[in-house]
Parts: sequence; structure tokens; C-alpha cells
Amino acid sequence: MPLTLTVLGTASPYPQPGRPCSGYLLRGGGAEVWVDAGPGTFAELQRHTDPARLTAIWISHLHADHSADLLAAAYAYAFGGMTPPAPVPVYAPQECARRLAGFFGKPDVDFLSGVFDFRPLCDGHEAQHWNLRLTARAVAHDAEAYGLRAECQGSVLAYSGDSGPCAALVELATRADLFLCEADIDEHREGERVHLTPEDAGRVAREAHVRELLITHVGPTLNRESATARAAVAFGRPTDTAREGDSRIV
Ligand SMILES: [Zn+2]
Repeated sequence: MPLTLTVLGTASPYPQPGRPCSGYLLRGGGAEVWVDAGPGTFAELQRHTDPARLTAIWISHLHADHSADLLAAAYAYAFGGMTPPAPVPVYAPQECARRLAGFFGKPDVDFLSGVFDFRPLCDGHEAQHWNLRLTARAVAHDAEAYGLRAECQGSVLAYSGDSGPCAALVELATRADLFLCEADIDEHREGERVHLTPEDAGRVAREAHVRELLITHVGPTLNRESATARAAVAFGRPTDTAREGDSRIV
């Protein structure tokens, strides 16, 4: 299967009817990876694949709008009869396992060891699943946060996660075929660079020489059509809006 992106959810920072928070299904090279587990995305994931068959789960950062549905997956896997044939690797910031354990009032996640295999991310972390390579880069956010570069048989998808403008984001996206990028804010608050405006997203895409820009995670002070139009002006190349249910070959 060629590298394919399916949009499960794009909302920020809370889910809306028909619009879960951040989550994507990435398929290619024999692998299926759930990228970000925003609230509502575990249900949408089931429209497209059997979650018990996931190759891996990849979490950009632990803000709830990107990670809360790990709980939904834990319930399905551990208590809902959706037991995976082997523990599913979860690539996520170090704290992920402890946070999840805390929800269950447990000191650790040993009781979930049959279903999840937690693997902490770090800057430059690489994971290879068959012909799909996942590379993490630390990006600028108000929490430990990573962007993702996914490569499969010559096709490249880059994903910003949540990030302010930074050199790592440009490097991550360099010459990507598709750059899935947040445009969360209308303008920066004084002294704070933890998200992108639509113009920032367009500029990063232009500096990185990406082929196509896909705008996602548009916050409540913007609407996604106008955010996409603003990003397109700054980028000057093909720019589209990520929409729930859409699939595209990278
Ligand atoms: Zn965030």
C-alpha cells in the first residue's frame, strides 16, 4: 500500500459534533499507525481499521486534545475484548505511561503490559515498521512535543504536531510531499511562540520546499477555510484543508 493519510479529527482544543480533536491514521509499507489520539478519534479509527491490528500508536505530546483517547484504547484493549495479538508499541513522551497509570489509580502500567508497549520519544528518535520509517523531532511547544516525519518507499509525510515556529519544524518538513501542519492561532500572544498562525504554517512550508500543505488543528479564533486561504498566500503552492474522513495518498 502506498503511504496514505486518513484524517480522523482536526479540532482544537475540544471536540465538536462530527469533528474530533487531533488524530490521523497513517498507512503504508505494511504498517498502520494511529498518529495522535485526540478525543473522539478512537471511534473514528474504527471506521477505517481494526484497532487491535494497529502496528503502532504515535503521540506527539501529552496535551489532552492529542492524547486523551489513549484511555479509550486502553479500555477497548484491556477490558473491551479488543485484545491485540501482541502489545501495541506506543511512541510518546516519557511521562505517557505514568499519566495513564495515574488515571487508573495505579503506580505503573504493568497491568497494561499485555496491550501497550510504551517507547519514549526523544529528538531524532527513529522507528522502523516494515517499510515505514517514523522520525521524531523535538519542536517548540509549552510541553515536551514532537513533530513526525514519515517515510515510505520514497514518499514523505511531515506532521507538525503542536509547534511554534522553529528550525526543527523546517528540517522535519524538508522536501516533504505532504506537510500536515497546525494553524491554531490568529496571532501570537506577547512573548509566546507555541503555536503557528496560518502565515507561519505557509512560511514553514515554503522554507522547507514542501510539495503540498495540508492545514489542520485550526483553533476557535479562526475558521479553517480562511486559515487555509491565508496559509496558501504565504506558501504560494498547493494548500488544502484537512477534513474528517478524508484519505489521500501522500
Ligand atoms: Zn498542545
